[in-house]
Amino acid sequence: MSYNKLCKDSLQQILSKINGEIALSFSYQAEDTVVLHLLSQCEIKSLEVFTLDTGKLFKECEELHQKIEEFFKIPIKRYSPEKSDVKELENRLGTWGMRDSLENRRSCCHVRKVEPLKKALKNKSAWVTGLRAAQSITRSELKIVEYDEKLDVFKINPLIFWSEDDVFGYIKKYDLPLNPLYAKGFKSIGCEPCTRAVKKSEDARAGRWWWENPEHKECGLHVKEK
Ligand code: SF4
Repeated sequence: MSYNKLCKDSLQQILSKINGEIALSFSYQAEDTVVLHLLSQCEIKSLEVFTLDTGKLFKECEELHQKIEEFFKIPIKRYSPEKSDVKELENRLGTWGMRDSLENRRSCCHVRKVEPLKKALKNKSAWVTGLRAAQSITRSELKIVEYDEKLDVFKINPLIFWSEDDVFGYIKKYDLPLNPLYAKGFKSIGCEPCTRAVKKSEDARAGRWWWENPEHKECGLHVKEK
């Protein structure tokens, strides 16, 4: 198993060069738990673990939220969309309107994810993610450390070269809490209306926005300006 393609020592080295607060975005995926476990072994002056509480999460994610807080003895801070924006969105799209067009779906992701992310990363120096290059075509050009100009923050992707087997092997090795949705056939975890279980032969992101073309499958959090 190649757990140490970017081992905790390398992660520590990168983090030591960051002045200011470091944030880990936690979206209830196995990758986020692996990164949190790596971070918990590093010396970090100031770390905030946060989640984007879209209002559309699976109940299994809520259960995992508590387990992770207890396991790592660290709070996961919730950042939510503005109530008035959600009201306007729901009036305009109804319950399932995000599936009607790419424009609708992106506007829902913008209100429920992108705007809360901006709040979460305000005044942070670095944003650590659990992204892997192999997850999808939209992530194939990721780098370990990038600068996100839009958000004015360094983005650190320690699992960039990890495979799915590396991630689940690590979870098993350290007996880390896992989202029960994986046992129900999910390979990637997102909001309930936009995520489904997949077949074994399908790739990890096939169950996200399955009605869209693969090159559109990002929620706006990890999209670079062209
Ligand atoms: S993933 Fe779906 S429900 Fe969640 S914010 Fe995006 S469009 Fe809305």
